[in-house]
Amino acid sequence: MVKETAYYDVLGVPPDASESQLKSAYKKGALKYHPDKNAHNPDAADKFKELSHAYEVLSDPQTRGLYDQYGEEGLEQGGGGGGGMAAEDLFAQFFGGGGGGFGGMFGGGMREQGPKKARTISHTHRVTLEDIYRGKVSKLALQKSVVCPKCDGRGGKEGAVKKCAGCDGRGMKTMMRQMGPMIQRFQTVCPDCQGEGEIIRDKDRCKQCNGKKTIVERKVLHVHVDRGVKSGTKIEFRGEGDQLPGVEPGDVIFEIDQKPHARFERKDDDLFYRCEIDLLTALAGGTIHIEHLDERWLVVDIVPGEVIAPGSIKVIRGQGMPSYRHHDHGNLYIQFDVKFPERLGGEDGAPMSEEERQALEKVLPPRSTDDAPPPDAMTEDYALEDVDSQREGPRARGLSGMDDDDDMHPGGERVQCASQ
Ligand SMILES: [Zn+2]
Ligand SMILES: [Zn+2]
Repeated sequence: MVKETAYYDVLGVPPDASESQLKSAYKKGALKYHPDKNAHNPDAADKFKELSHAYEVLSDPQTRGLYDQYGEEGLEQGGGGGGGMAAEDLFAQFFGGGGGGFGGMFGGGMREQGPKKARTISHTHRVTLEDIYRGKVSKLALQKSVVCPKCDGRGGKEGAVKKCAGCDGRGMKTMMRQMGPMIQRFQTVCPDCQGEGEIIRDKDRCKQCNGKKTIVERKVLHVHVDRGVKSGTKIEFRGEGDQLPGVEPGDVIFEIDQKPHARFERKDDDLFYRCEIDLLTALAGGTIHIEHLDERWLVVDIVPGEVIAPGSIKVIRGQGMPSYRHHDHGNLYIQFDVKFPERLGGEDGAPMSEEERQALEKVLPPRSTDDAPPPDAMTEDYALEDVDSQREGPRARGLSGMDDDDDMHPGGERVQCASQ
């Protein structure tokens, strides 16, 4: 008399089912509920796991005995939970392992498809904006595994490499541990072969790779950083990655990552530059100097009287980044900050002289009277004070949106750069 029948129920067999009945019930169910055949049925994955787990327990006379006697509780300590084999592993083992046999069965649905390939080495290649502007070739060294040239990846003399008897060449072994009335069952790396699945006698071991089949080699790759290349571009070296015996060599992939730049911000092929000018230059003209990315300095005239408003954006066409595939350049957009003087007038806080005031009044547009009250309004006089940052600093930070009205200016549609 068994304690529980849940596992038998999952497989759809009676508790006195024979080993071969269990086997064919699992086989039928596993093929039906395998996740690769049930992409649109999420319940199938759970069902598949349940089936696998039930079969894993019942196919082993030792754990089946425990289950019959104590039920699921008897397995809790690891036989059922943590130590169990992953459903996919069991499935693979049951059907003979490897992708090959079964890919066909599922019409190419298996995860491990095609020839096995060694690991891809991925590396982020950080480059400066200057290097992207000019283009360059980076020489990058990497350590990779190559098939040992001395033993051709066998690990030892020909014929000296034997399949490990302890694990039957699988490299993994199922171990049991008695814990009171329970038996803990877990997968472990085979201690006889250290997971290699093969045994080589010490004296036959390859001297160059010490039986590891591969050696580590330093390889230098020339990575072309093309002019104007974008961040995120991947440069692939097929077959330059790790080698393993009997496996297609892996690839090496470099991903271009542009470092932030102190002066310029890049958006596609355009460059954005923030330039602070003084009020006099903004009003009466002058010259600004911009250090470019290729050691040139751009000397830019500001025409007197054209007035650069704070936040306004101007463009120098063709001075952006080289376009990656076209033979032209993006634009250089310049956003201006205007630095106002703290105050005007004489030294030591002396007020502006009458002469100075008249000079300003002569060149600047007249005072606006738009805010004047109606003639019959009642008026009171006030004077302005400075904000005391101790007392009312946080309150006086300004109205929201007051200092980012940049989009109002002509050319403002490209103004995203302003948020530096
Ligand atoms: Zn072994
Ligand atoms: Zn070797």
